Amino acid sequence: MLATIIHGPRDIRTAEVDAPTIQKPTDAVVRVTASCICGSDLWPYRGVQETKQSHPIGHEFVGIVEEVGDEVTTLQPGQFVIAPFVVSDGTCVNCRNGVQTSCLHGGAWGADDRDGLPVQGGQSARIRVPWADGTLVATDEVPAEELVPSLLTLSDVMGTGHHAAVSAGVGPGKTVAVVGDGAVGLCAVLAAKRLGAERVVLFSRHESRQALGREFGADTIIEERGDAGVDAVRALFDGVGPDCVLECVGTKESMDQALRSVRPGGFVGYVGVPSGGAELPIRLMFGGNINVAGGVAPVRTYIPELLPDVLSGAINPGRVFDLTLPLAEVADGYTAMDERRAIKVLLQP
Ligand SMILES: [Zn+2]
Repeated sequence: MLATIIHGPRDIRTAEVDAPTIQKPTDAVVRVTASCICGSDLWPYRGVQETKQSHPIGHEFVGIVEEVGDEVTTLQPGQFVIAPFVVSDGTCVNCRNGVQTSCLHGGAWGADDRDGLPVQGGQSARIRVPWADGTLVATDEVPAEELVPSLLTLSDVMGTGHHAAVSAGVGPGKTVAVVGDGAVGLCAVLAAKRLGAERVVLFSRHESRQALGREFGADTIIEERGDAGVDAVRALFDGVGPDCVLECVGTKESMDQALRSVRPGGFVGYVGVPSGGAELPIRLMFGGNINVAGGVAPVRTYIPELLPDVLSGAINPGRVFDLTLPLAEVADGYTAMDERRAIKVLLQP
């Protein structure tokens, strides 16, 4: 079967590897029907994050259960499943607290599990899923083909955008600004509207992303950044800024933009994977009573809440996919996202 392997900066390709089999009674094997490339996959691709040795890559996928181990109770072959971007057992104290990203027995796609057994990356044709009952969410029926892209976003970007909104306390009547016009930022716009935000502003300089942001519910687009961006967003909200700012990039500049854009007493929800020296300025936060919450999104917690709205068509986050490629052409997908020619790339087997 095909699997995507990263060897080093700008060297990502598929290889023919052995198909996985059940290794433990809590495993399932899933045949991937759609996977995708994440903005965070670009960090090792660009060499910002070092690749010490070649390894499988990808952490977002949906598919059909092919086989389950003897102790798997909630899944059966033939079911359609959504895989969150990390493995979790669903039973430990952190999972029960809804923080499956800190599962005491969890792990990552594309790395060995805690017993030293390999787990395939998300950009593969078939994947052994440890702790299948805890990790996977099955739908009642195999969904229609046109719903698959939106279901795939529940693996990561839609749940992550939602986490930014929840962390910032977005709700009815709140005013919101979103920093970041990648797939997560756009999903954060959609999540904020879904949670009842009164007005949503998106920072974006890219025409196609602005258009999708508006489709997802952004009322206003701000093209300025830095001081000019702060001035522009404050001018829209009584000269002080919105109630909530959703930080969806993870750089020093984007975090700074978020912290300086929110009103005194407001809330910043941050979900961008930190890179490039992002730090919290306690003095600024102290002076303005600026609240900051967020982190790596426990998307497993959010899937049951978001799934009905995807199945009903109430939200269509799959619109973030603007390029679909066969898995064999995954390298072209990375190039397209690196060059910002694509917002997000969907991969088909
Ligand atoms: Zn756990």
